Amino acid sequence: MAFSREILTSLLSLQEKDSSLDHLAAEIAKVPAEIKTLRDALAAEKALLDTVKGRIAEFEKRKKEHELDLASKEEAVRKHQKDLNQIKTNDAFKALQHEIDNARAEGNAIETKILEIMEQLDACRGEDKKVQGELKALEGKASAEIGALETKLKVLEARHAQEKTVRDEASASIDPDVLKAYGHIRSRGKLDAIVPVRDGSCGSCQMRLSPHVVVEATKIKSLVFCESCQRLIYRPEALAAPGVAGAAVPPPPGWESGLAAKPKDDAAPISETAGGPLPDAEGRDSSRRQGEELPNSTERGAC
Ligand SMILES: [Zn+2]
Repeated sequence: MAFSREILTSLLSLQEKDSSLDHLAAEIAKVPAEIKTLRDALAAEKALLDTVKGRIAEFEKRKKEHELDLASKEEAVRKHQKDLNQIKTNDAFKALQHEIDNARAEGNAIETKILEIMEQLDACRGEDKKVQGELKALEGKASAEIGALETKLKVLEARHAQEKTVRDEASASIDPDVLKAYGHIRSRGKLDAIVPVRDGSCGSCQMRLSPHVVVEATKIKSLVFCESCQRLIYRPEALAAPGVAGAAVPPPPGWESGLAAKPKDDAAPISETAGGPLPDAEGRDSSRRQGEELPNSTERGAC
């Protein structure tokens, strides 16, 4: 497999492009969820308005039923009062008067219920007005934000497509076997597929590298992998050194003498933890959600 300083430089440049594409892809992936949050907030506010209107309809129905009931009691009182004139006996008069009193008492109880319902109706109508105002404001805000997000999505997608074209063109100059090895590492979730050697250790997993591996990385003649995380490694000093690759490159700090010496024991390796030091391609601030400041409608509407 052909490898050289030029290919290494191209590969590092390719990784920068891929990193930018990863970042853009993550930004693109967030937009639909942000739009959904806004639409969900709108749907919740509309559902709240429906609930309030449903309560109003129910109270109005009950009020109407009670009003009909009250009218029936009042009619009964009028009829009984008219009948009193026809009564001949004292007992019959008392019995009818008792019925009149009962009908009046029932009528009074119904009036009390109607007043209670009217108070509840007033509360619900107030809530209805309030929710309608909030919904209108929310519709304007959500509409503007969704429009902005849709525009942002188009811009990001266009930029991604443009950068992808440049990236693919750049990759055409790199040896296919090198590309395959690089792509294989990235496909395993290690997006920083090629990392620098830092003080004799892998720049990603931090594990100490063997002298042989460091010597090979200094030569820039073949692909060299970290023995622990299997990422590709390179020595920035070797890449920057003029002339023949590796000819005048000093050994990494912490080595006793020369590249073949053993590493110092005090440079204890740091184990790569699960999900460890992968590049945080998605490391942007995701704490804020569009619509987070929208009113929480689920706890309201208890009119
Ligand atoms: Zn490593």
